[in-house]
Formats: sequence, C-alpha cells, structure tokens
Amino acid sequence: MTAAAESNLRAGHPWLYAQSIREQNRPGRLGELAVVYDRRDRFLALGLFDPDSPLRLRVLHAGKPQTVDRAWWSARLETALARRRDLFDEQTTGFRWVHGESDGWPGLVLDRYDRTLVLKLYTAAWLPRLEEIAELIRERLSPERIVLRLSRNIQTVAGSQFANHDGQVLAGPPQEGPVTFLETGLRFEADVLRGQKTGFFLDQRENRKRVETLARGRSVLNAFSFSGGFSLYAARGGATAVTDLDISAHALAAAERNFALNRSLAAVAARRREGIQADAFEWLAANPARKFGLVILDPPSLAKREAERLGALRAYGRLATLGLAHLSTGGVLVACSCSAHVTAEEFFGAVRRAVAASGREMAELWTTHHPADHPAAFKEAEYLKAICLRDVRRAC
Ligand code: SAH
Repeated sequence: MTAAAESNLRAGHPWLYAQSIREQNRPGRLGELAVVYDRRDRFLALGLFDPDSPLRLRVLHAGKPQTVDRAWWSARLETALARRRDLFDEQTTGFRWVHGESDGWPGLVLDRYDRTLVLKLYTAAWLPRLEEIAELIRERLSPERIVLRLSRNIQTVAGSQFANHDGQVLAGPPQEGPVTFLETGLRFEADVLRGQKTGFFLDQRENRKRVETLARGRSVLNAFSFSGGFSLYAARGGATAVTDLDISAHALAAAERNFALNRSLAAVAARRREGIQADAFEWLAANPARKFGLVILDPPSLAKREAERLGALRAYGRLATLGLAHLSTGGVLVACSCSAHVTAEEFFGAVRRAVAASGREMAELWTTHHPADHPAAFKEAEYLKAICLRDVRRAC
C-alpha cells in the first residue's frame, strides 16, 4: 500500500482505492472481509472487498486486530441506534438509523419510515451478507417490513449473482404504493419502493424546521420542491400561500397528496397551494413579476463528478441570482446544496457573491450543515449545506 493510503487509513479514512494497493496475496471475492497490512506487515484495518470497483476496500475497522462475528455486527448496529436514541420523539417516525461510512457501515443506509425500514446499498460488497444483516436488523428493531433498495450501479450484479432486486421486500408483507410516516407531527408519504434515495429527503428535516419559523405572513416559493416537505412546514408556520415548483409531475402529485394528508391542521387547510411543473431555472428566468416573501432553492446535486465542480458553482450562483430576483422587500432566501464535490465555503461564497451583485442589503441569518442522524465523519461524506439570508430594507 502507498504511504499516503496508509496514513489515510490510520487517520480513520474509510476508503482504499485499487491503485493504492501494492500487493495482494490472492485475488479476493466480492464482499469478502479483507485484511490490510501496513508497510511493515502489521495489521492496519479490515474491510469489505470489491474486486470490480476502483474503490477496492471499504473499511469496517482500523487499529488493533479484530474478530468480526455476529456479536461484533450486533454491537456495531447498536452504536448507530444509540446515537439517535434521544433525537426524536413519537412525532417523528421518519429518520435515518444508519448513515453509511460515517456510522461504520460503509455504503449502507438504513432509514425508518414508521414501521417500514428501508435498507439501501451503494456497494455490491454487502450482497453476500445481506441475509445476515437483514436478520440482525429484524431482530433488533422488529419492523413490519424491510425494503431493499439498490443504487443503480449494483442492480445488475444483484440480479444476476444474488437474485436480489431494487424494491424487493426482504421481510414482512408486500408493499404497494407509498408508506406514510410523521416528521415533527406532519404526515408525509414516502415511495419506498421506487422513490429517489429511499423515498424521502430525510436530511432536510432541520432546515425545514427553520423554514417553519420564518414563514409567518410570507408567500413561499419552494423551488425543486420534490414532495413538498418545505411547503408543509411553511404552511404550518403561517405562510400566506405556498408554491411548489418541480420539473417532475410525479413529485408534484406527491406534494399535493402530502398537503392533503395534513388538512386536519388548521394552518395547512387555510393555505392556498399551487403546483408548477417546469424547469426551475427556466421558470425563474421567465417569470420576473412573481414575487415571494420566502424563496427556497434546493436543487439536486449539480456536480455529480469532481470535473463538474466549477460548472456547479456557477449554476449555484446563477440560481441564487434568479431566486433573489423573485424576493419581495424584506424577503428571505434559503439556498441549499447537496453536492459533495462543492464545499460548504465554496457554496456559501457563490451565494454571497450573488447577493452582493444583486445590490440588495441582506443579513445572513444562518448556515447549516449535516443533521445529527446524517453524520459526516470524513471530508468526502460532507455534502449538505444551506444558507439563509434576509433582505433588511424593511423589518419584518
Ligand atoms: N427540497 C426537497 C428535495 C429536492 S430533491 C425536499 O425537501 O424533499 C430535487 C428535486 O428537484 C426533485 O424533486 C427533482 O424532480 C427536481 N428537479 C430536478 N431538476 C429540476 C429542474 N431543472 N427544475 C425543477 N426541478 C428539478
């Protein structure tokens, strides 16, 4: 192994790339537990091996030699669960139990949607031990069902070598259509079988709460609304009207259903809701006359690869400029980014420059990073950031 890779692993970084491996005593099979020795032949780490991925090994444990048996897996799960123990009350039944590498489960996510758990795999290296892991989860959390989701790049090998498929119910009764759950007392549906990620953007909960406190008396534009999460919080917080803007008809239909699910709340029932299906960049540019008291911008990742970083920064700046043009006097802008290739400071910089160029006088209310159930333990895991500014020309 190269010196750089060795010091990375020693420092707790969870990835070992194929090109950093100097010598291997045999080829290794998918999902095998591989042991990494340092350049003086001492135990350094062990992890899940994937002979077909440039990310050849995902570290499970580093430091002293360790036996990985059922008790070890069980303790590892317990650590992740314990971390969330005091975060949520019964008003929040949707959250993340296990968040990949940063919870010691590289490439594996476990989300809770009330009594349904969604296990999502981002590496095929888990497939050989899927049954063992699902059993562990079932015993410990007693869900009604466990749904398996697979990232696109591992769906073929899952089907051909393991007879697993995306949307498969691993345990419990079959599921048709979305499941519903609570987030701070608001009811939402999640399309756990087919939806993006595991069916809902659980990572935006804390930002949605902040939006609720800013919404009173303001009309709200929720750009890239997906299933309307931000809009429902805004409605409960006393927004005068909410507009969901998304390119996907499917997302807008879910947003409408989510609104209907909460009509028992007077604040939601009283609110006017509008859904607009359009490309947000185009709609924002084409409708300068539409003004809002609160504009939320939460686009999908604009940089999927490192090479797209600069283009993404320009797009974030342009989006902020477009959003600012729709703010009424005293309005609030909330801009989010979920691109891991763009750092928080780069993103905040792009938004601040757009604000400066707009000639508006704005006060920065807050910036946020990862919520506690989505910890980021190493640099590449940091993807989420948001910034909020208020036009201070008139006190609201
Ligand atoms: N804010 C949401 C999550 C947004 S996910 C929440 O809190 O749940 C990103 C959304 O952007 C998806 O719903 C996707 O359909 C939408 N989208 C992607 N490209 C778009 C575009 N060019 N214009 C408008 N919406 C777009």
